[in-house]
Amino acid sequence: MEDISKGLEPFRIPIEDTHHLGSFLLYITDSIFPDGTPVTTYEPESSSADGESDEDSTNETYTCSCVANHDDHPSVNICTVENGATCDCVSDFGNFYYMPSGNCDDHKDIDRQLLNLEALPERLPLVECSPICPCSGNCANRLTQRGVLISTTIRPSSSGVGLGLFYISTTHDDLPQGCFVSLYAGEYLTTDQARQRWSNQRVHEEGQGNHILSLKLPGKTWHIDPRFKGNIGRFLNHSCDPNCVIQIVRWGIDSLPRAAIFTKRGVRVGEELTFDYANASGSVDLAAQLDRQNVIEDGAGRTKCLCGSQKCRGWMPFDETL
Ligand SMILES: [Zn+2]
Ligand SMILES: [Zn+2]
Ligand SMILES: [Zn+2]
Repeated sequence: MEDISKGLEPFRIPIEDTHHLGSFLLYITDSIFPDGTPVTTYEPESSSADGESDEDSTNETYTCSCVANHDDHPSVNICTVENGATCDCVSDFGNFYYMPSGNCDDHKDIDRQLLNLEALPERLPLVECSPICPCSGNCANRLTQRGVLISTTIRPSSSGVGLGLFYISTTHDDLPQGCFVSLYAGEYLTTDQARQRWSNQRVHEEGQGNHILSLKLPGKTWHIDPRFKGNIGRFLNHSCDPNCVIQIVRWGIDSLPRAAIFTKRGVRVGEELTFDYANASGSVDLAAQLDRQNVIEDGAGRTKCLCGSQKCRGWMPFDETL
């Protein structure tokens, strides 16, 4: 079977059926702008023409100064909470990753890190070390920068419509809660650009998938469109009772925010991975609100939800904002 990532991810991601890829054109491991430039090239406050400028617009890039002493301790991880006092990134923004005692697939240690969802305050973006922090390889604060490290495959969705992303494993271990799945990569659109695309194309024409995810930040909203260019994140279907959530993560405080998919609960081998399109971050308040809405809405003009979960709200959400 073909590897959808064409060798760009650390492990092959087989796809069973390449005939139903719809508008998908290109696999990317990280998001890009519509002109093809990587979002890594984004420079935060070089333009004061953007209206309100951020509180402190220093031109220096924020980094820690942690370096691993490979000669003495080749396997010691740095930028952890334990040595947070010496790491500026961790002391200023925290590190919500931890090493499990069990398994998160069987790859090298630092890749088995999990996100402590319980300790992370709701809606707080994760701030990892920046790609230009000197810590690199042994840094314990870069979980989402290492590509897709769990075994997945793309095959027809359990709902019967379109394709879905499934967790497979050679070790037969379940994925624990807080396991990093992948980024939600796509083209970063401004609201104007997103509107233009919406008016050109019907959003739901290809079944449940290919969802534009909106990241609402103070003063600006970015829309991640994975329909034409994206990674495996675009194959996660909607569920009203999902096994994954999406967290905003920054690679350095002055980077553009990215969306990262983590398991919300344990995931069995062979299970399809899903998130809630109406409540991607898994907000408790929003979940309660959606449950209430479900009672009063009649679903006129909406797409039927096929998630099949016991908590199914009946209809696909229109849009959501993180
Ligand atoms: Zn550090
Ligand atoms: Zn750092
Ligand atoms: Zn670091």
